[in-house]
Amino acid sequence: MLLAGITGAGACAMCGALAGMSLLRPQNPEIRIITDTAPPASTPDTIARIPEPPIIPRSQWGARPPNHTAENENGFYSVDNPFGWFTYGDDVQRMYQTLIIHHSVIYDNDDVTTLKDAQDLHMDERLWADIGYHYLIGKNGGIYEGRDVRVRGVHVAGYNTGSMGVCLLGNFNVDQVSELQWQSLGWLCAWLVENFSFVRLAAHQDFNPQTECPGTNLLASMEQLANALGLARGIDAYSPHTPTPIAMTCPCCGCIA
Ligand SMILES: [Zn+2]
Repeated sequence: MLLAGITGAGACAMCGALAGMSLLRPQNPEIRIITDTAPPASTPDTIARIPEPPIIPRSQWGARPPNHTAENENGFYSVDNPFGWFTYGDDVQRMYQTLIIHHSVIYDNDDVTTLKDAQDLHMDERLWADIGYHYLIGKNGGIYEGRDVRVRGVHVAGYNTGSMGVCLLGNFNVDQVSELQWQSLGWLCAWLVENFSFVRLAAHQDFNPQTECPGTNLLASMEQLANALGLARGIDAYSPHTPTPIAMTCPCCGCIA
């Protein structure tokens, strides 16, 4: 099955060739997955694939390099240092089974300022090696590279190993998700689903009920987003990997979550 489109969607603002693939506001009652009804491809090489969305690299938004002496993510993973910088290596594709949606809470006038504020918060106040999320999506629909996707994130206390973090810039207890953010979220998630082993979509709050992340206005659409992606909503795909979970400060709002 190909996530070919969602009804009612117009041409994607980011790529005209992907008309019909963009994601309308999920509260649109017309939203549904269109199953590809084209004849089966004759060889695997001819099966249509979702193209990689344009992703703004760290170098373009001015990301700071990781700090491998950060107090709360100190050094590299080992049996003796289970909370160090953990690289998935050849296991990266199969390790990611849960896609987790966040909001940044911090919001300023432009996406890059907000992005840099989030990285500063995570590195200077949370004392982690780098920004905790793997991808971030701005109000203008830009998709930004966060932490190296080959490295375990820090975005959901106790459940980070094998969980990929996608954060929408904004405070969705107050803001509405912009049309461009929805489009980019749909495209990014569809591409990720095709390239990793995801079986569940979860909101941060699903794992850690103490947090309000990703905000009421985004939470309201999580079920429909999961359906559109062909994923189940929930946390039960998570299987504890090493290391043992511990509580930490929430990357999104600062609560202990
Ligand atoms: Zn969050």
